Amino acid sequence: MPVRSCDVLIVGGGPAGSTCARELVRAGLDVVVMDKHAFPRDKVCAGWITPPVVQALHLDCADYAHGRVMQAIHGFRTGMIGAETEVETRYDEPASFGIRRCEFDHYLLQRSQARMRLGEPLKTMARDGGAWLVNGEIRTPLVVGAGGHFCPVARKFGSQPGPAEAVVAAQEIEFPLPPRERSAYRVDDETVQFYFCADLKGYGWCFAKGGYLNIGLGREDPHKLPEHVSEFCRWLRRREVIPGDLPGKFNGHAYLLYPESRRPPATDGALLIGDAAGLAYARSGEGIRPAVESGLMAAAAIIEAAGDYRRESLARYASRLTARFGKKSPAESSSSWLPQGIRQTLAASLMATRWFVRHVVVDRWFLHAQQQAIAAGTRYGVQR
Ligand SMILES: Cc1cc2nc3c(=O)[nH]c(=O)nc-3n(C[C@H](O)[C@H](O)[C@H](O)COP(=O)(O)OP(=O)(O)OC[C@H]3O[C@@H](n4cnc5c(N)ncnc54)[C@H](O)[C@@H]3O)c2cc1C
Repeated sequence: MPVRSCDVLIVGGGPAGSTCARELVRAGLDVVVMDKHAFPRDKVCAGWITPPVVQALHLDCADYAHGRVMQAIHGFRTGMIGAETEVETRYDEPASFGIRRCEFDHYLLQRSQARMRLGEPLKTMARDGGAWLVNGEIRTPLVVGAGGHFCPVARKFGSQPGPAEAVVAAQEIEFPLPPRERSAYRVDDETVQFYFCADLKGYGWCFAKGGYLNIGLGREDPHKLPEHVSEFCRWLRRREVIPGDLPGKFNGHAYLLYPESRRPPATDGALLIGDAAGLAYARSGEGIRPAVESGLMAAAAIIEAAGDYRRESLARYASRLTARFGKKSPAESSSSWLPQGIRQTLAASLMATRWFVRHVVVDRWFLHAQQQAIAAGTRYGVQR
C-alpha cells in the first residue's frame, strides 16, 4: 500500500527506531518506519546485549530464542592485550546475552506492527505548510531520526559526521564456528573475553554465541585501527583462542560516544534517537541499550506532546536524556588527567585485581548495574 501520510515517520529500523515505533503504535498512532535496507539486514556489531535491554523491550526470551541465537552469558575473561594475566568474573544469573543483529533487529521491527517502507532511503525532507514532505510524497507532522551515525535527519539539522566529531571506530567479524570445531580453541559459549589496548584507548573482544564466533576491536582513536585489529588477532591466535584463518574480512563502522556528542536531540517537528543522537556509553561503547531507552523516551515525549511538535514542546525529551545519561563531560571517556605512562602501569595492575575488575570494570563500566532498566509504558522523567 502506498503511504501518503502518517502521524509519525521514523527513519531507520534498528533497535532505536523499532522500539519507538512499537510504543507509538501501541498508543494508537499511525507510524511508518522507513529504512534504506530490506530486512532482515545485518549491522556491524558484536551483538552483546545487557539485561536492562531485555527488560526494557519486555523481550520474551523463550519466544525469541525459538530459531534464533540468544546466548546467556555468565562470565567475563578480561585483561590487557599482550599480557599473560587475565581475570575471570562469574555470575550465577545471566549477566548479558549474545544475539545476532540480523535476527534481533528483524524481530523487533516486525513486532512493532508499524507500517513499513523498507529498501527506501530518505532522500528529501522539506517543510510544507507546517508538516514535512518526505521523498516528495509522504506528509507527516513529525520525523524521528533513527538512522544511526550517518542519519540523514541528523544531517538535515546540522550534524556533519566527519573529522569535526570525535567518534569511536570499531571493526568486527562474525562467522559460524560449530561447537565441535570450537573445542580446539579457548572459547566457551558462556564467557565474553575482552582485553584493553595498552594505551587504554579501546578494547578487543571475542565471544561465542550459538554456533557463531564474533571477534572485534573498537577505539576512541580510529588511527591505525586495522593494525590494532591485526595485532589483537595475532595475540589471540598465539593463545589459541581463535582459528588461524578467519573466513572473511572485518567490517567497520563509526559512532559517537555520549560525552562527545553535540547533536541536538529535538527541534521543530523532529527528534533524534539512538546513534543518530550519539548516545553510546562512554567506557563500553554499548549502544543498543541507549538506542532502546531513547526510543522509549522519545515515544513518551511524542505521546505527551499530543500533536504539538514545536521545539519547546519536544524539549522534555532532551531534558530526560540528560537526566538519564548525565551532563556532558568529554573527559569521562579518556581519563586524561593522569600522564599516559602512569595510567598504563596503573591500569595493568588494576586489571589484574579481581575486586576492581568485577565491581568497576564489569559491573560499572560494562553492565551499568548501577543504572536500573527503564520500563515501557512509564514516563521516564526522573529515573536515573
Ligand atoms: C563493531 C561494532 C560493535 C558493536 N557492538 C555492540 C554491542 O555488542 N552491543 C551494543 O550495545 N552496541 C554495540 N555497538 C553499537 C551499536 O551497534 C549501535 O549503537 C546500535 O546499533 C544503534 O542502534 P540504532 O537503532 O540507533 O542504529 P542502527 O542500528 O545503526 O540502525 C539504523 C538504521 O537506519 C537505516 N538508515 C541509515 N541511513 C538511512 C537512510 N538514509 N534512509 C533510511 N534508513 C537509513 C539503516 O539501514 C539502519 O537499519 C557496536 C558498534 C560497532 C561499530
